[in-house]
Amino acid sequence: MLQVYNTLFRQKEIFQPIYPGKVSVYVCGVTVYDYCHLGHARTYTSADVIVRYLRWQGYEVKYVRNITDVDDKIIKRANENKEDFHAVAQRFTEAMHEDFSTLGLTLPDHEPRATEYIPQMVAVIEKIIANSHAYIGENGDVYFDVRSFPNYGCLSHHNIEQLESGARVEISEVKRDPLDFVLWKLAKPGEPSWDSPWGKGRPGWHIECSAMAMDLLGEHFDIHAGGRDLIFPHHENENAQSQAALPTKFVNVWMHTGFLQMEKEKMSKSLGNFITIRDVLREHEPEVLRFFLMSSHYRSPLIYTSDALHQARQALVRFYTALRFLPEVKHPHQTKYEAQFVAAMNDDFNTPVALSVLFDLAHEIQRLREQDINTAAQYGALLKYLGSVIGILQTNTEVFFQAGSSVDSVKVEKLIQARQQARQNKNWVEADRIRDELASMYIAIEDSPQGTTWKFLK
Ligand code: AMP
Ligand code: ZN
Repeated sequence: MLQVYNTLFRQKEIFQPIYPGKVSVYVCGVTVYDYCHLGHARTYTSADVIVRYLRWQGYEVKYVRNITDVDDKIIKRANENKEDFHAVAQRFTEAMHEDFSTLGLTLPDHEPRATEYIPQMVAVIEKIIANSHAYIGENGDVYFDVRSFPNYGCLSHHNIEQLESGARVEISEVKRDPLDFVLWKLAKPGEPSWDSPWGKGRPGWHIECSAMAMDLLGEHFDIHAGGRDLIFPHHENENAQSQAALPTKFVNVWMHTGFLQMEKEKMSKSLGNFITIRDVLREHEPEVLRFFLMSSHYRSPLIYTSDALHQARQALVRFYTALRFLPEVKHPHQTKYEAQFVAAMNDDFNTPVALSVLFDLAHEIQRLREQDINTAAQYGALLKYLGSVIGILQTNTEVFFQAGSSVDSVKVEKLIQARQQARQNKNWVEADRIRDELASMYIAIEDSPQGTTWKFLK
């Protein structure tokens, strides 16, 4: 049985979806004002593994990952560049899509942009005001009244006094309590703005996720996730304002990923200690980065060093060496390896333990290779199959070993993604053109329910 750690109760609990067989997942997305860094890659690769595993377990998953396309940082960047804030958001959204596609991240089913959900946000704020949990400050902005909400602090496990003394909260004359946060902010001259019952302005950051999640997943849904920096204030506020608007429970399970760190500090744009995904992918294959990101449990911190990436490549070399020169056969069912792999993943998506099971399997393949090539081949097929569940070991072995020589695997992956997009859009002509382009590079592709695999034919 799948157990998942819930930040709300600070413990693992048996996962029970609201509707049997279906799981609704909302992951807070990127604020698009710069290139994505490895910290983003960590959180979204964790989300990707969770979604893939739930689907493999047979759940019908609805996965939503938003885009914050209006916010102070985007507006500041636009002013610095003397361009429209939409143009900044659009440019970095495209860059994010490129990076995430190269990393092989599962496409969300919905990718709502905050600017497209303003009416829904206004409607949620109206409900919060009607339920007497928000007020209009002296400056005309609408604030959430934290003292009116008895459970405020339940997600970060602190009461209001502890939060006030521990957090950097803005003291302001216009708010009743320093922790009160803005739901609707009136526009200053030259700022982007939308009409509302409180005047022209824009939404506060927290309200966007409440409104988009409720609109796409319903008022009560299964999983809400993000990096652990979002526990307070973002998710605490989101939870409070949603509960203040709704008669129902909002989220069942809150999940948070540990930080990707540079030495002892969180990698972040504001600290300036970040390395972008695209910079790393100039030197390393996407699978190496993905493997590194899964090598520690999603809730644990993970320290980036270039040596750790080299070790990740070495680990992949061991796997691909085990997969090399094996005849193609079907994988066996009901093996102890699959049972151990499932037990690890059912234990709050424990990828490091799941990977150690795959290492045992690789070791067994090498042991059997000389004496019983048929069983070795079956185990090889099993290794690839279990690898596919977490999005690794799908590269053709010879391509893996030639990486950096004749095949540009990043380009191949991009073309495959573009073909998938074309197929989704029913643009068969373009899909066929991409297949031909791949064929001219001696790349053969094969589609299956698990996705598209490719082989280098030379
Ligand atoms: P941002 O674009 O800063 O709003 O962040 C988008 C998502 O990436 C949030 O869920 C953050 O918690 C997550 N994130 C940002 N930096 C890191 C990091 N160093 N490690 C893990 N997750 C991060
Ligand atoms: Zn959010």
